[in-house]
Amino acid sequence: MFGPHKETPVLAANRLARWALMLSQYDYTIEYRNTSKHGNADALSRLPAGPDVYFDGKEDERDIVTVCLINTIDTQIKPTDQSALRKESTKDPVISEIIRYTREGWPNQVSDHLKDFKKLEHSLTTINGCLLYGNRVVIPASLQQEVLKILHEGHFGMQRMKQLARTAVYWLRIDTAIQDMCHRCTACAGHQNKPTKPANHPWMLPEKPWSRIHVDHAIDVMGHHWLVVKDAYSKYPCIHETNSTSTKTTTQLLEEDFSHSGYPHAIVSDNATTFSSQEFKAWCHERGIVHLTGAPYHPATNGAAERLVQTFKRFLKKSRKSPKEALQEFLMQYRRSPLASGYSPSELLNNRQIRTKTLLPSPAHEAQERQAREATKSQAKELQSMVHNVHRHYQVGTPCYALYTVGQDEPVSLDGFQQP
Ligand SMILES: [Zn+2]
Repeated sequence: MFGPHKETPVLAANRLARWALMLSQYDYTIEYRNTSKHGNADALSRLPAGPDVYFDGKEDERDIVTVCLINTIDTQIKPTDQSALRKESTKDPVISEIIRYTREGWPNQVSDHLKDFKKLEHSLTTINGCLLYGNRVVIPASLQQEVLKILHEGHFGMQRMKQLARTAVYWLRIDTAIQDMCHRCTACAGHQNKPTKPANHPWMLPEKPWSRIHVDHAIDVMGHHWLVVKDAYSKYPCIHETNSTSTKTTTQLLEEDFSHSGYPHAIVSDNATTFSSQEFKAWCHERGIVHLTGAPYHPATNGAAERLVQTFKRFLKKSRKSPKEALQEFLMQYRRSPLASGYSPSELLNNRQIRTKTLLPSPAHEAQERQAREATKSQAKELQSMVHNVHRHYQVGTPCYALYTVGQDEPVSLDGFQQP
């Protein structure tokens, strides 16, 4: 099957193809050796030495990233239908054919419309019913326009759109499609000679909850100062009322949140003195947190926190409760309200929905309650049977109390009573 002067068979499985590729770097000759001269594999060469954590972890991490990418693109193109990519890939006659060849092996001759993909055959894989070219999801024709629209969001210009596409999506002649779109758009054309803006694209998500948090101060809102904290991934908000914006007070309040969710990898803030101080830098450094600040006079980079401040301000103004009570209500509502992805901040960060007054008990809650009721019932039964099973043996002279006595107010001793 292998040889320095032999082509890799077209139908070779991916693993064999990779072997052949690796071996092709070497110069080697193949010698025939009689079976009787082969040493038998001994136990030590066959016994696994335990799980290879590094290898396993690496495989998993890559798969998780790919699946996350598919999910993210799914939620962006069809927020209501989270498996749109798989469905459309199955419906697409070209892609479904390629998926079949990728799984079962490519034939030598393919029809014209598949020739371009045949050239890529060694880089094609399938995962979750979707076709991947390297790390990029191959988008079926029916979804290409929608994906183009998402790539175009923010009008970052042709170059940036192409860069973004290369990290996530692919179809034949995608670059031409991007060029056409940008040529038609005046906003993108104006971008050509300007330095690229720091992108804030929906696909550029932090990969984990609580890995990048945004912080900001809301000064003098309803007579109070507030420290606002928001997780970039889950949008989970934390807000503290504070009478000082000093670095010391701020870090103390942040420590409160970090005691719940741990230290993030990065904190994003504006250039206010609280955050630009040496003290704050040292505090971050000590905890292994990267501190990112927006460019001066460019608050948009910390948009996540700014938007939360705006929403909170509006809520406080409308609420008839005291600021402290209003804050609790706001946090609870915000943490449990589903985002565009269909999940609430609480679900994304803590993996569970929080219960509020308005939330009806879930089937799980009801089952729990039933179980508790039954447990109480069976406990009561057990107790009763214990009481019934007690047999007391009274002897003459055993002191005891009488429950009812005639003509006496105090317990009396039954000394001298005869046993029946
Ligand atoms: Zn544009």
